[in-house]
This record gives sequence, C-alpha cells and structure tokens, in this order.
Amino acid sequence: MKITQQLQKKLRQPIVVVLGHVDHGKTTLLDKIRGTAVVKKEPGEMTQEVGASFVPTSVIEKLAEPLKKIFPIKLEIPGLLFIDTPGHELFSNLRKRGGSVADIAILVVDITEGFQKQTIESIEILKNRKVPFLVAANKIDKIPGWRVQNTYSFLESFSKQREDVKNYLDGLVYNLVSQLAEQGFSSERFDRIKDFTKTVAIVPVSGKTGEGIAELLALLAGLTQNYMKNKLKFAEGPAKGVILEVKEIQGLGHTIDVIIYEGVLKKNDIIVLGGINGPIITKVRSILVPKPLQDIKVVKTDLTPIDEVYAAAGVKIYAPDLENALAGSPLFAVDDESKIEEFKKIIQEEISSVRYYNASVAGVVVKADSLGSLEAIVTALQQKKIPIRLADIGPISKRDITEAELTSQEAKEYGLIAAFRVKPLPGIEIPAKIKLIYGEIIYQLIDDIEKYIIDVKESEKRRTLDSLVLPGKFRILPGYVFRRSDPVIVGVEVLGGIIKPKSSLIKKDGRKVGEIQQIQDNKKTVEKATKGMEVAVSIKGNVMVGRQIEEGDVLYTDVPKEDLEILLTKYKDIITDDMKEVIKEIINIKKISDPTYGLGITL
Ligand code: GDP
Repeated sequence: MKITQQLQKKLRQPIVVVLGHVDHGKTTLLDKIRGTAVVKKEPGEMTQEVGASFVPTSVIEKLAEPLKKIFPIKLEIPGLLFIDTPGHELFSNLRKRGGSVADIAILVVDITEGFQKQTIESIEILKNRKVPFLVAANKIDKIPGWRVQNTYSFLESFSKQREDVKNYLDGLVYNLVSQLAEQGFSSERFDRIKDFTKTVAIVPVSGKTGEGIAELLALLAGLTQNYMKNKLKFAEGPAKGVILEVKEIQGLGHTIDVIIYEGVLKKNDIIVLGGINGPIITKVRSILVPKPLQDIKVVKTDLTPIDEVYAAAGVKIYAPDLENALAGSPLFAVDDESKIEEFKKIIQEEISSVRYYNASVAGVVVKADSLGSLEAIVTALQQKKIPIRLADIGPISKRDITEAELTSQEAKEYGLIAAFRVKPLPGIEIPAKIKLIYGEIIYQLIDDIEKYIIDVKESEKRRTLDSLVLPGKFRILPGYVFRRSDPVIVGVEVLGGIIKPKSSLIKKDGRKVGEIQQIQDNKKTVEKATKGMEVAVSIKGNVMVGRQIEEGDVLYTDVPKEDLEILLTKYKDIITDDMKEVIKEIINIKKISDPTYGLGITL
C-alpha cells in the first residue's frame, strides 16, 4: 500500500530546519506545528519518522483553506519534513558537500526582541550552506493590546486587531526588515511581497497560540514547490542520506539516525558510511521507525521495523560495525558491489576535507564528536583567524596533547585543546600548561577559545613588556637633589619615552651611571613615569651627584639591543612619537661602542 502510494509521487517532501536565537521560541513553534498536524491529519495518514516530523499536504491545505485567495497553488509535494531538533548543533550535521541536506529553513526571531547574536550566526550558517530561509516573527501574542483569535491564520487574526496594535506590529516587522537589510537581505511582510526569489518573507506568528502557522506552512510548501522543483524530483534508486546521530541502544547495539534525502533504502542493502577510522561498509539489518501514535506527546521510543523507506525520511538503522560511525557523514546505499570503492573514495574525501593537520602551524587542537560540528568549528575559527594545527574527530588522545604542547612552546596562547562533546580517553591526563576548553554549544566554545587566547596574549604581553627596558630620557632638576649617593635621590622631569625601575642608565657620552631603583610620584611609588611627569627617582650603583652626574644632566635608559628589537617587533603600538625621538637618540649614543646597535631599524 505504502509503496504504490509513494511511487505515484513526483516530488519528495522538502526538508525543513528551524534555527534562531535561544529562547526565541524554536521548540515551541515546532511543537505547535507537530501538534497541529496530529490534530488535523486524516486517520493513518501520517508516517512515523526518527529525528524528524512529517506534516502531510492535506494538513497544510486544510489550514490554508481560508487563504486560498492569497495562495492559489495546488500542492504537489506530499508534505513537509521538519527536523525535530532546532538550532545550530544538529543543523551542522545535516551536511552535504558544499551545502546542506535541508532544503529550506525557518529563522525564528522573537518579534519583541529583534535580532540577537545567534540570529546573526544562524544567517551566517544558512548563507554558508546556501539554504534559503523565511523569517518567523514569533511571539506576536506578546504585543501590547494583541487579542488572541481562535485561528491559525495571521491575516485573519490581524484583521481583527485594533488599528494601533496593527501599526505597532508593522513597526516591529520593519525593525526586522532593517536588521535583515544590515545582513544583506531585502525582506518584507509575506503578504506584501511581489517576487519571492528576491525578497525574504517575514511571517508574523505565535508558537503559543498558533496564529500565523497556516501562512507559515503554506509559504514553506509553496516556495519549495515553486522554486526547488528540480531538487525535489523524486528519485528512484539507491538511497543517499546523512547521519544525524550515532546512538547505542540497550539490547540492540549501535544504531544510526539517518535522514534519507534521495532514493530508496531497503532492508539488507549494503551501505557505505563514514567512520572514525575510515569508511565503513555494512549491511542494513533493520530499518526502524517509531510505532504509529495518535498522541504526539507520547515519547517516540517504541520502534518497529519496516522493509523499505523512500526519501525524504528520518529512520534509525541497525547494522553491524556501527560503533565507529561518524555523525555528519554521508551514507550511500549500494545496489552494485562494484560501486563500493567509488563511494568509499567519496566518503574518504568528504572526511579528509574536514579533518586537518599541519605540523608547521603553531595553532589550536580541535576535537569534536561529529563531522558537522568539527566543520562548523573549523569554519568559525578560520573566520576569526585563529590558527589550527590539528582538527579531528574522537576523544582526546596522547597525540592531541603532544601537538598542543608543541604549539605551546611556540605560541603559548594557542596551546589549547578545544573539545566539543568529547572527553579525554581513559588514563589521559591534561598537563597544567595545556588548556582544555570543553563545550557543548559551538558558539559558546568559540567564545571561550577567543577569550582564553586574548587573556594569555595580554598576560604574556604584560609579562614581557614588564621585563623590557624601555627607551626613556629625563633631566635631573636643579635644586632637587635629596640625597647625593647610595642611593642617589633626585627630582627629575621625564623628557620622552618611559622610565621604569630596574632600568640601567647612561649619559649622553654612553657612560653607565647606575640603575633606577624606585620612582615616586607625589610620595607614592609608581611602576613607570612618562613624558612630562616630574617624579623623584632613586638611583643605585657606583654613582654620586657631583662626581658622575650633575644637577641639570640629561640621562637615558640603557636599552639592550634585544629589548629594542622586541619592542619594535611585538609592541609597536606602545611607541609614541616622543619615544621614537628617544630611540633615535639612544641609537646614536650606543652605536659609538657597538656599530651594530640599531642597524636596519627604521622608525
Ligand atoms: P527556544 O530556545 O528557541 O527553543 O525557545 P522555546 O521554545 O524554549 O521558548 C522560550 C520561551 O518563550 C518559553 O518560555 C516559551 O513558552 C516562550 N514562547 C515561545 N513562543 C512563544 C510565543 O509565541 N508567545 C509567547 N508568549 N511565548 C512564547
């Protein structure tokens, strides 16, 4: 029965994902859509899916009945397949070379809050994977004065609102229009759009009351059917899919949850898929789907085997040798064994395009639990110009630590292991000098990595800057000799650069005249003094006022050659114009005794 029904189909169901900022209502909206579908479906009509939910066309048509005038299309697609888990993390595993298995996305935005950080990140991801989207401007029931109507139609409910409420809503929609414009998209409220290929549709909805869901579903169906016909052509032939998750099930063993986006998968099919240690070739023992349920609230755990399944669908596959299967990897069914090698090669290439190792880069080590998350993390790090030494899948091993240590010797700030949902192997200890940054949310992990790098850079900078003798010049103020020797204490005016304790001093003729012991500004000890400051300085060493130095003398800091080089290469940003002048003068003094001093330096 099911097969004949399927064979008549010309188009498969488009795969829909939901993305957006946390708490903007992704889960609530998905639940509402699923719940509505269960209520409105014909008996026996709904197929059961793993990791996804099917909304049949009859449900969309019933809901959109009152909208016929606006959407006069005849639906040919069998329905819509919604991926159950919203957000970045699972979306990253819906990968397909150069794109995504998802055909269209709903970007959920809380209309009262507008765009937030993850809204923009979602757009970036969708752009990157070339997935078209429409915007669900959610939580319209929160608009002040909104009177909830008993309808799934936004337009019907909108027509019954007060004028000021209508205007207020439109104002909020235009906020979204301008925020989308900032991201490079032209957009409009859906009912005012003339050309859907050029304009992103904004659909005001409430995931709580259901208002707007009719238009949302009608648009998803209409847009995919109109503009993606080629992509949705129903294909006979061996299945193509992507592994969403790898799960161990008690009493059964390792299984994979797969979205089939093309072709037919049959029991006993040979499948080729990606594994941690290379491609896996195995034979499908069973294809499992949840038992048909009348009530969506019942947890989908009771599985039942089926003999075959047609795209698009979400199923669980049980087969031998799946322990090392890789989430985010492609899966191909093979009808002709001679093709196995070809598919192995494709999968190998797919995996190596995401895995990465370069021994000559002092960069971070990334370990992740799936191909999709690893790819998303690597892309994000590259965008932020954070160097990567090693990016791979699986738990943290001894080798990862060795690589991070090698990085750390060269660039301490990158001596870290970023672990996305993976832990160290048993018995592996992370040495104190290596930072382990663990994350379960991609963007949180990236933020933490960035923060750590900045912190280490800052403290390294402080540490080396503190240890450098900086170029400085001061004059001993006449009449301000407080102590003539052991140590000398004099009032001085800084003429340029920076003077600090522990800096040796020289005179204009290059002779050494002790070392700064302490600097006081208004009787308070300070770490440094800069141009224009008048401070008291104590100078220790074999030096005495009236002998080696005199009131009115100009002294310079004795900057070692290496310190000058470090300053000029690493801390250029702290060199002020007055310091530049001092550097020139010091070079002139020092090159008398050391002709290589300051050689090749341009300021
Ligand atoms: P997610 O993090 O994007 O999946 O957001 P949730 O679906 O968990 O929703 C976050 C919060 O917003 C929850 O307290 C929901 O009850 C609430 N919420 C979601 N959609 C709506 C809506 O349309 N109207 C109102 N008033 N609240 C909503």
